[in-house]
Amino acid sequence: MIAFEKLSAPTRLFINGDYQDAADGARFDNINPATGQSLGTVARGTAADVDRAVAAARAAFESDAWAGMAAGDRERLLHRLADLIEHNAEALAALETYDTGKPFGDARKVDLPMSVQTLHYYAGWPSKLRGETVPVRGPFLTYTLREPIGVIGQIVPWNFPLFMAVMKLAPALAAGNTVVLKPAEQTPLTALYLGNLLNEAGFPPGVVNIVSGFGGEAGEALINHPDVDKVAFTGSTRTGQHIMRQAAGTLKRVSLELGGKSPHIIFGDADLKSAMRAIGAAIFYNQGEVCIAGSRLFVEKPLYEQALEAASQSAARMKVGDPFAEDTRIGALVSEQHWKRVDEYVKLGVSEGARVVAGGGPAEVAGGGYFYQPTVLAGVRNDMRVAQEEIFGPVLSVIPFEDEADVLALANDTQFGLAAGMWTQNLGRAHRVARAIKAGTVYINAYGIMDPAAPFGGYKMSGLGRENGEEGIAMYTEVKTVWTGLK
Ligand code: NAP
Ligand code: MG
Repeated sequence: MIAFEKLSAPTRLFINGDYQDAADGARFDNINPATGQSLGTVARGTAADVDRAVAAARAAFESDAWAGMAAGDRERLLHRLADLIEHNAEALAALETYDTGKPFGDARKVDLPMSVQTLHYYAGWPSKLRGETVPVRGPFLTYTLREPIGVIGQIVPWNFPLFMAVMKLAPALAAGNTVVLKPAEQTPLTALYLGNLLNEAGFPPGVVNIVSGFGGEAGEALINHPDVDKVAFTGSTRTGQHIMRQAAGTLKRVSLELGGKSPHIIFGDADLKSAMRAIGAAIFYNQGEVCIAGSRLFVEKPLYEQALEAASQSAARMKVGDPFAEDTRIGALVSEQHWKRVDEYVKLGVSEGARVVAGGGPAEVAGGGYFYQPTVLAGVRNDMRVAQEEIFGPVLSVIPFEDEADVLALANDTQFGLAAGMWTQNLGRAHRVARAIKAGTVYINAYGIMDPAAPFGGYKMSGLGRENGEEGIAMYTEVKTVWTGLK
């Protein structure tokens, strides 16, 4: 375990290549959720700081240093940033653990490699992004250009702070945009740390600016700023709706990655060993603070008791504890407020008629902190609030079903459409169900995998647009059509 003080984490805003105090000097307390104690304070950016950051991003966008940079040089910068993150992986994983309460092993083995891979993946794109010639009628040469959009405001949540930031930065920069990034107030540290690495990699000042602060202050300033061309957001559906409304004023481009309530289906013809083993990880990984968590487990009736047992055993086996301890599988929830929300949902489920078969309350961990037991609810109906609303914690609802038609109706009976998973050995059924489910990602005999090459995003109220892959970079471009008369 690396002592927090040894990490020398930057805690000031990163604007135009420099760490700076907020204009009014304000700072806020940053809490370590595994202890409930303060990690110190962080600069609290407000509208004045967002103004400065947007101005720096605009100047960088228009500058020859960035706009005139050869695609191949932009690729090298992105690869270098990936290498620097890899080089600083221990420190970044430790910071992520202090900030979020997640297990250090997960941060080190998942968040960090995913961030590095995402940067390397998008580093390959600048020299491959290109327009087309268009076969129009008449004596014209007509072609398209793919241009960057401009200044992008990026707002990210607290569950995978560094990875979410990189997932947004990489395609935006690969396409030639400049960015003002606002990390979540609970977890500003790894994003702010990037400032030094961006400088070291050689990004011109102003290309990326990082403004820590509150959603209602820095966030609002960013989504309403007249000189921000696009807002890319990951977070709750509620905030996403608000952003879309606000963006209408200046017709900002908007892309949204929002909540989920993903169905995870076990058919009677599944490879039961694999299916039963997958249940726990699909919901409890990262304390259940995962937008694609398999939070509604649908089980074909004859397997219901067996699945309940497997889920309960998995919950009981997962050690909740000190995020830096090697055998810890589940760390602390991100904040006291979020802990209370999760606990209220469990109580609500019970009052709606569900039965707690594992967990169901606080986990006692020496040193305090906001720990919650992995929890399994039986006797849940799909129309209960615990099955319809996103809990974003380690709480699984288990629901029996009759047959394929029944489970399809249940799986799609939700406002969300982010992900879905199923276990079956029947190939025809697997692809039939994959087509019928309204979700941006469907897993067959797997759950929860992501890759920078694979598009990711939501149907319905789970979002707008797709991140990752070619779709992910296309979202950061404008298409311009150029006509030339040939006569
Ligand atoms: P949230 O309240 O929507 O916050 C997300 C981000 O938006 C934070 O940086 C937040 O700042 C900022 N924000 C809040 N209000 C704002 C406003 N009025 N204007 C501009 N920015 C504002 O979400 P959360 O509860 O922290 O995060 C959990 C949610 O994120 C879950 O619902 C989860 O499903 C979703 N999520 C989705 C994905 C995905 O890829 N689809 C991934 C991860 C999480 P503050 O921190 O200061 O509030
Ligand atoms: Mg924190």
